[in-house]
This record gives sequence, C-alpha cells and structure tokens, in this order.
Amino acid sequence: FQMGRVYNFSAGPAVLPEEVLKEAAEEMLDYNGTGMSVMEMSHRTKEYEAIINTAEQDLRDLMNIPDNYKVLFLQGGASSQFAMIPMNLMKNKVADYIITGQWAKKAYQEAKLFGTANAVASSADKTFTYIPDCSDLPISENADYVYICENNTIYGTKFKTLPNTKGKPLVADVSSCFLSEPVDVTKYGLIYGGVQKNIGPAGVVIVIIREDLITEDTLPGTPTMFQYKIHVDNESMYNTPPAYGIYICGKVFKWLKKMGGLEAMKVHNEKKAQILYDFLDQSKMFKGTVVKEDRSLMNVPFVTGSEELDAKFVKEAKAAGFVNLKGHRTVGGMRASIYNAMPIEGVEILVAFMKEFEEKNA
Ligand code: PLP
Repeated sequence: FQMGRVYNFSAGPAVLPEEVLKEAAEEMLDYNGTGMSVMEMSHRTKEYEAIINTAEQDLRDLMNIPDNYKVLFLQGGASSQFAMIPMNLMKNKVADYIITGQWAKKAYQEAKLFGTANAVASSADKTFTYIPDCSDLPISENADYVYICENNTIYGTKFKTLPNTKGKPLVADVSSCFLSEPVDVTKYGLIYGGVQKNIGPAGVVIVIIREDLITEDTLPGTPTMFQYKIHVDNESMYNTPPAYGIYICGKVFKWLKKMGGLEAMKVHNEKKAQILYDFLDQSKMFKGTVVKEDRSLMNVPFVTGSEELDAKFVKEAKAAGFVNLKGHRTVGGMRASIYNAMPIEGVEILVAFMKEFEEKNA
C-alpha cells in the first residue's frame, strides 16, 4: 500500500484497488482529452456511452453472462431491490425467503408489503452462524421466486451450494461476494448487489436478470423508476444513471480482468481467508463464530469471549493501522472483511498482529 494508506477491513464501503483510485485521480480534471471529469459529463455523449457499454461488456466477460440475461446499472443501493424484486416478480404474490441474517430478513419484511412472503428456512436459532440445509425445502407450489442472501456480510456465512428451488427462479443478493469467485449465472433468475464492497462507490446496484422475468406486468402502483423493463428498454439510461460510480465499476472490471478474472480471484481470496481461519482455529484467544463448512471468504467474524479484550484489540489494532475491525453494531466482537482488493500481505500482517496481541494479553 502507498504511504499514508491504512489496512481497511471495513465491510463496506470498502477497500478498492489502489491503481484504480490512482487512475481515477489522474483522470479527474480531464478524462481522455475531453477537458472535463466524468462527473461533469453528460451521460448522452459518445464518451460516456463507451464507458457504460465497456463496463457492461467487461462484466459479461468476467461472469460469463449468457445473452438471455440483461445487465442493469441502477441506483438506490442494494436495499432498493428489496422492494423492486417483489414489485416486478410477484405475479402470484407469493415468494419464499431463506433467512440467514439481517439483510435477508430486511428483504423478506419488505416483500411482505407486496404479497405473501414465506420464511421457508432460517438460521436465526443459532444467531445466523450457519447456512440451513436447503436441499429439500417446503417451496410453495405457486412461489414466484426463492430468495437468498448468498453471502451474509454481518454474520460471515456463505451458501456453498445453492438451494434446491424445485424449479422456481432463484433470486440472490450477492452484495458482499460479487466477483469474488466464478458463478454459474444460469442457476439464477436474478442476481443483484450493491457495489460498495468489491466493485465501486455506494449507491450503484447491479442487477443481472433473466429475460423471461422482465415484463410490463408489474404490481399495480409500481413506480416507473422501479420497473426493470423500463431500465432494460433504455439500457440503464432511462434517467441520469449514477454515472461516475459506473465509471469506477468499469475500472474495477478492467482490473479484475488484468488480475486473471474470477478464477484467479477465487485462488487469491481462498489464500487470504485460509491464513486468517487457520490462525483462528489454533488460537487460544480468538475464535471464529461461524461453522467451518459455511465460512465466508469475504467477511470473517471472530471474538475473544471478553468484551473488554475485544475493545482493547480493536483500539490497539486501529492505532497500528488496521481499521474498521469492530464487529457489526448488532453482533459485537470483531469482523475482518477481506474483499478482492485486500492484498494477501494485509491479512498476513493482521495475523502477526493478532499473534502478538494474544501473547501479550494471555
Ligand atoms: N445486502 C447485503 C448483503 C449487504 O451487505 C448490504 C450492505 O451493506 C445491503 C444489502 C444493503 O446495501 P445498501 O446499503 O447499498 O442498500
């Protein structure tokens, strides 16, 4: 990392590749000879069209997105989709939700505004420290979709196998695992995520949606801005898109391609996560909170068992340049978010720091 930068373990907004930030800084006053910043640029120019079209193509290449899926760059963050999904997909007004944490629960509660949302599985009984068995769920006969939050940012769990939806479209919030490993897009009806963890500035939400799910037949009263079809027909330019944010996303896609794509990212992320989990598994002071088989590669929550010691650790870590290690305000303890842009070295020196802290405070 460049001098003055910290190791930022924030769950989001989160660390981005340094070279992307540097490039954006270089282009801030004069993008590509236009004499202006992308922030100042009309989205109806050929320069901007090239930016958004290239971003979409690079994302398609990275995720191997088939032609029968549309890619949308929208605004309103991931949370806007909690409503947009039922408004567009709830034809029978029934959907099944798998509750693996607060984000899934929020989406579930929002869906109840629009129809019948069923919680068909939950890991609330053990404070969301595992992913429930989803091989044979009581999927509703007339469910319009089955909903998951694929990586649970707060609790640090991840679906390693997708649920058996019994033929219903799978809808997944991938906000905190976006582009962290290869995905088979064909297994989903709709994939979406806020970009502020692995991809870019908060506010932008990317939606990848199968064509047959895009219809004019939305729930009565659905605002125009909340209709997928409007955004599909206008190629994400129905209104002014979050133009600068999309430009940064595009740079991160280029960076990912240069790094070797999602296969390489998976190797990189597994390496980092293993360093941290291996340490936690042998430590007498620090303990991971998630069952081994469901551990996230992106968010790693851990505790010492003593609130006092947790607070001391967070404080001393911050002073040493490791910031945002405090666990979510509803959970306590610590959480290290180690997204794509976190270098292996960042995790290695965090573990060295934890070792030292353990020895000193044993
Ligand atoms: N879904 C998940 C998995 C998240 O981690 C977050 C937030 O950080 C959200 C949804 C909400 O995203 P936003 O703040 O962009 O609405």
